[in-house]
Amino acid sequence: MKITYHRFLFFTSETNQMAKLQLVCSCGTVRGTTADMNAKTGTRIMCCCNDCQSFAQFLKQENIVLDDYGATEIFQIPVSYVKITTGNEHIACVRLSQKGMYRWYAKCCNTPIGNTMKAGIPFIGLIHTFVDKASIDDAELSENLGYLQTKFSKKIVPLDQQASQFGVMSKIVFNLIHWKIKGLQKPSAFFHDNGKPILEPKVLKG
Ligand SMILES: [Zn+2]
Ligand SMILES: [Zn+2]
Repeated sequence: MKITYHRFLFFTSETNQMAKLQLVCSCGTVRGTTADMNAKTGTRIMCCCNDCQSFAQFLKQENIVLDDYGATEIFQIPVSYVKITTGNEHIACVRLSQKGMYRWYAKCCNTPIGNTMKAGIPFIGLIHTFVDKASIDDAELSENLGYLQTKFSKKIVPLDQQASQFGVMSKIVFNLIHWKIKGLQKPSAFFHDNGKPILEPKVLKG
């Protein structure tokens, strides 16, 4: 009886802490949802890198994407956790260079969606602009680890808000291996099963 009781407690606490994120572009045309997430799912960071800033500039959305430090809030989760439910035809993609990341956005209103590598790499860096803020509170997501790539920040980020580059990279590598073993690269809302992207991205510079 004792074991059953403990199992029951474990089960209820797990389910209480899990929630889906609701995804929506700023005009409401492209919508989606994530799989159930909890505090252990993925990595949540503030990325100051110049490529993330360039993407926001390309979309003319710096004001809504970047914070005062020039950082983009990103949730790195398995790509198969993202389901687009409506507005697929409004999804577009750019790469800043030939080998750059695939940067997905909703072309109806230029809302950044997220960044992926090529097909088969099981992650997406979901950008906060595509996440319904109310659902973030519900999801009890993992805490934000802080600012990365701070050499690109627009002003100096206080030390206590900077993430450990090594700590975050280790977590990302561990997640990538773990998610690959679990097959979380498929299905992908952004790549066909044959590895081709759902549309040919525009490459901004050779
Ligand atoms: Zn839109
Ligand atoms: Zn970045």
